[in-house]
Amino acid sequence: MKTKTGSKKLEKTPKKARAPGFATTCVHAGQEPEPLTGAVVVPIFQTSTYVQEGFGKPRQGYEYARTKNPTRLALETQLAALEGSATAHAFASGMAAETSLMLSLVKAGDHVLVSRNTYGGTYRLFSKILASFGVTFDYVDTTDPQTVRAAVTVATRMLFVETPTNPTMEISDLRALADVARSESGRIGAKIRVVVDNTFATPFFQKPLALGCDVVVHSTTKYLNGHSDSVGGAIICADPEDGAKIGFTQNAAGAILSPFDSFLVSRGIKTLPVRMRAHDANGRTVAAWLAGHPKVKKIFYPGLPSHPGHAVAARQMSGYGGMISFDLGSVEAVKSFLDRVVVCALGESLGGVESLISHPASMTHASVEPEERLRRGITPGLVRVSVGIEDVEDIVQDLENALAAV
Ligand SMILES: *Cc1c(COP(=O)(O)O)cnc(C)c1O
Repeated sequence: MKTKTGSKKLEKTPKKARAPGFATTCVHAGQEPEPLTGAVVVPIFQTSTYVQEGFGKPRQGYEYARTKNPTRLALETQLAALEGSATAHAFASGMAAETSLMLSLVKAGDHVLVSRNTYGGTYRLFSKILASFGVTFDYVDTTDPQTVRAAVTVATRMLFVETPTNPTMEISDLRALADVARSESGRIGAKIRVVVDNTFATPFFQKPLALGCDVVVHSTTKYLNGHSDSVGGAIICADPEDGAKIGFTQNAAGAILSPFDSFLVSRGIKTLPVRMRAHDANGRTVAAWLAGHPKVKKIFYPGLPSHPGHAVAARQMSGYGGMISFDLGSVEAVKSFLDRVVVCALGESLGGVESLISHPASMTHASVEPEERLRRGITPGLVRVSVGIEDVEDIVQDLENALAAV
């Protein structure tokens, strides 16, 4: 570094060992070279069982592959490091993860508060299946911590938050909600866990455990895998005791992620930072362009200053990603629009490198009753786009051509 007088001075290198950065963690956590050959990539251990060294002597705890598999373990180590925890467990889908989460951490008689705009499949699991096992659910506006506080009962044991929500991108203040859960836990004399569905933001943009929340769930199907070629889920707990409960259920209920899918998700995670930066850059450009288009009646993107959750998002997230919803006013407008997109593929799901576009009311949220859908802002004219990492000019051009037909 040059000083004012022009003399060269060496910058002191800090002696303290620094923790590896996020990108380094994505590439290396859990990815030890294979001991026999030194293979850089953890192999796909496609086996159901393991030969024991002798009577009563399994090798390093490997007895049966539902219980433990080295490829899955490598992914779980990577996932735990990403969210800043000690334990993670991988499941056959995001919904399998949520099912295992509920089997592990709530029981009959418990009350759970859920973000009112939660993913349709989450709502279906909670309201159509788990409710019949004696767990009660209330869907509340988690964007307002005081509404959450008011909804707590003596039976409340969990707050299940999604932020940003799907598809209207509502933002909940995770630190404020963790504070509410902590003080209300004290008041009712029982722990209220805050669980965050971090699928949309990913740990690249948002770290719920660092904000005081207890558990993170993921659909790895989306950004973590990132290539639309695997379905999977994960649970990451701050408290090792919770982690042990999840691990017990993972083995007992058995909704595990396969070795091949574990390999795919591990591989996807290695490029997570590169992809998320690209999704974010393209997302911002597309959102700004859509916001200025005369045929777009309303737009939902937390990166726009006009979005009601913008200030909280700017504080708790380090980027906004590529998820955008916008309203074209009617289902007829949506039909002519979606029939003409070419670069954006018409399909459910999100978070892949390719742009995907969908109509929440008839696709992802078809399982939500019509009145409930409207209450959540899922209007007939709403379109959701998962902006991919193609050249942004091509995405904008595609949307422009399709909007011209509306
Ligand atoms: C897709 C999704 C899920 C469910 O995950 P699957 O892998 O499809 O089972 C849960 N939450 C959110 C926010 C999702 O987008």
